[in-house]
Amino acid sequence: MERLDFRIMLLSMLGSCFMQSYSQKAWTPHPPLNIPLEATGTFCEIRSNHFHSGIDYRTQQKEGLPVFAIEEGVLSRIYIQPGGYGKMLAIEHPNGYTSLYAHLRDFSPEYERIADSLRIELKQNKIDVSVQHLNIKIQRGQRIGYSGNTGSSTGPHLHFEIRETSTQHALDPFDFGLSPPDNQAPVFEQFGYYSAFKSKSGGLRIGNLQSLPPGNFPTTLLVDTGLIGFAAIVFDRQKTGGFKNGLRKLELWEESSLIFRVEFDRLDFSQTRYINAHIDYPASLSGKKWRRYFKLPNDLLANYKVGNQLMGFIHLKDGESRVLRLMAFDQAGQQASIRVTVKGSAGPVKGLAGPNVLAGKSDSLISCGASIVLTAKSLYQDEYFSKECLSENGPGGFPVYTLGSPLVPVHDYVNVYLPVPAGVSELKNYLCVAVNYKGKFVYCDSEANENYIKARSNDLGKFTLIIDSLAPVLSFSSFTGVYRPSQKIRMNLKDDFSGIKSWEVRVNGQFIPADLSLSGELVFAVPRLNYGSYALCIMATDKRGNAMSWERSILISAE
Ligand SMILES: [Zn+2]
Repeated sequence: MERLDFRIMLLSMLGSCFMQSYSQKAWTPHPPLNIPLEATGTFCEIRSNHFHSGIDYRTQQKEGLPVFAIEEGVLSRIYIQPGGYGKMLAIEHPNGYTSLYAHLRDFSPEYERIADSLRIELKQNKIDVSVQHLNIKIQRGQRIGYSGNTGSSTGPHLHFEIRETSTQHALDPFDFGLSPPDNQAPVFEQFGYYSAFKSKSGGLRIGNLQSLPPGNFPTTLLVDTGLIGFAAIVFDRQKTGGFKNGLRKLELWEESSLIFRVEFDRLDFSQTRYINAHIDYPASLSGKKWRRYFKLPNDLLANYKVGNQLMGFIHLKDGESRVLRLMAFDQAGQQASIRVTVKGSAGPVKGLAGPNVLAGKSDSLISCGASIVLTAKSLYQDEYFSKECLSENGPGGFPVYTLGSPLVPVHDYVNVYLPVPAGVSELKNYLCVAVNYKGKFVYCDSEANENYIKARSNDLGKFTLIIDSLAPVLSFSSFTGVYRPSQKIRMNLKDDFSGIKSWEVRVNGQFIPADLSLSGELVFAVPRLNYGSYALCIMATDKRGNAMSWERSILISAE
């Protein structure tokens, strides 16, 4: 693990590669859409718990636009899930890159048939499979599917990625010319800073973000002496009035010394959650996208090129003035900067409580008989967690336990153990752990043990137990019982708490591929069978194993 060296050292230069420009790659791909490209989302912009791994191209608020292969290649991956990419295809190209097309409404008919036969063979509706071995050749510019709004998508668009095949790291598609014209430089919206404190263990904690009002960029700022780090809300637009998109690069300079640089030219998916260390996590919970011009000790994102020994922080002495320049660059190389003189004000440096939980060490927190286990990778910096017992009950009528704070991001899943309350041990297989996320208790992947329920959580804060003994519910607005072959049947399949784990549609016992959307719409096509009466059976289970099954006879009419 990297450790801060707190000796005040001369800020060191990184070398001669400061002013590199983004060289366009030699390859010119075919555009994935046949409309002018416009991006509502760009590479590595800030999303919830991840950096955006591609470009979101506008599809004129419509679904069903043809989507084209950007280069010849072999179909390499088929993915169908209710969330995530929704319906997605990937193509591996002979030049070392892979392209990926997501949230599709449909694949082209030949790939729909392949997806269906894979789902039937695996008897699974959710698939994410490598299909390289099938050696399905695709031509440059060939139509491969139709744009849509499937998966975790909030409106019709094409999510498009280019990956380096050997590493599966995502690259910026704008570097391959698949960019709309960009004549707008980045814009700084808000400026802020942090005081940072060395903890007794030799680790680091930062204080709360000190934010100035939007549009307020002081020329001189009085701050506490000691370690100071900077932050800004900054974005880029491609055109006047366009979407607020992401940036290529952030830099912090003092005179001619580069103190900090983070560059988003590629993304290792295994590191994407480090976004929660790059942004101000508490502010992000209310939608504010602060970017930090420093690196926390346990943030291992490979995109940082830190120029000084203090990982982007500066050490300010009493009465000392330093002139800093925060810079932001867009993908087209346009830049914006703000310049601020910070002056260390007299007076003792204000410390922070604790810390009592250290980054880089595994630890367990125990509160009122409940516990949580943190791994060495859980925390980005040392933290202080209060250990008080609350006497409140959650929505399930069981005690609420406080284990850490929801304002502290955790990198790894943490294991949570809540005791099975007296008198409900016979119900323990229905008990699940819920964590309070943005004011609401949500399901954590749970398993019942002897005297406790164990769960995995992505969040800290308030935990409680909830009983989920209700199976998913199937509903529909019309069911005629008479259908033509290939006709689509639409129903709703919903679960009250833990969520749908699996679903299955069978006709006379034969598995029929069926799509479920995040909103609970279940869609499947009537199989191409001869005229006659058939048994239609729909089954589903939730994540606690509560199962439902529904059966009717249907008449399949002539085509
Ligand atoms: Zn996207």
